[in-house]
Amino acid sequence: MIAIVVPLAAVLVTPLYVWEWGFRWSDLAVLVGMYVLTAMGVTIGFHRLFVHRSFETYLWVKVVFAIMGSMALQGPLLRWVGMHRWHHQHSDTPEDPHSPQHGGAGFVGLMKGLWHAQIGWFFEADPPNLARYSQDLRKSRTFRVISALFPLWVALGLVLPAVVGGLLSQSWMGALSGLIWGGLVRIFLVHHVTWSVNSACHLWGSQPYKSDDESRNNALFGVLAMGEGWHNTHHAFPTSARHGLRWWEIDLSYWVIHLMERLSLAWDVKLPTPDAEAKGRRLA
Ligand SMILES: [Zn+2]
Ligand SMILES: [Zn+2]
Repeated sequence: MIAIVVPLAAVLVTPLYVWEWGFRWSDLAVLVGMYVLTAMGVTIGFHRLFVHRSFETYLWVKVVFAIMGSMALQGPLLRWVGMHRWHHQHSDTPEDPHSPQHGGAGFVGLMKGLWHAQIGWFFEADPPNLARYSQDLRKSRTFRVISALFPLWVALGLVLPAVVGGLLSQSWMGALSGLIWGGLVRIFLVHHVTWSVNSACHLWGSQPYKSDDESRNNALFGVLAMGEGWHNTHHAFPTSARHGLRWWEIDLSYWVIHLMERLSLAWDVKLPTPDAEAKGRRLA
């Protein structure tokens, strides 16, 4: 609960903070830098690399992404991977850990479903045998240790922006600003943008591809969630490293993976063949 309430409280006091002490460009830089770093830890690392194995890379790169994703405070690596594989297997059925489709009828039902998919599910008991869904990663001591050290990475995600903020402004006040903007406010934003993929992207948007669930392509979260909002495409082609398959579907995570491939930092990058893509299309 602390993980949700403290960042929310920080967001609520930011207007007062800005009123009293002003807003520095260095605060915005630390916020954006930490947002991109930790959101991509989740989207490229936790999601596309560890859950779906959509590309291959060196062990040290995997370790860096695992730590970046852990700093997002969305639970330890092994739990995140297990929950998300469970989501794909049971998508929008009553077994789905975070489907917005089961709140009931009418507006109240929609709101209940939204709340559950956005926040409520995070506090519910794990599905049984969740560990089975991350067996591949559990075989590696490295990933077991990284997952167990989750609180350390969360602390790093708070200390790092404080240090950068302090150095940029050469002041303790700057360090506090860094902690608030790059730590707490950033955690709030990354939480809700990522979780909107679970809620909004299973409710609102287009369904250009065939999938046995309510997943949607939502342009707003396509951009904000580093490409993860092209979620209908993702459910249709889960192992694809690229979620925005059409040229105008901005997918920052894939652009980074593509750049890594050019730099020989990523290989075996999986994409649907043109034939598979055409067959996957829903007929209008
Ligand atoms: Zn989904
Ligand atoms: Zn997925």
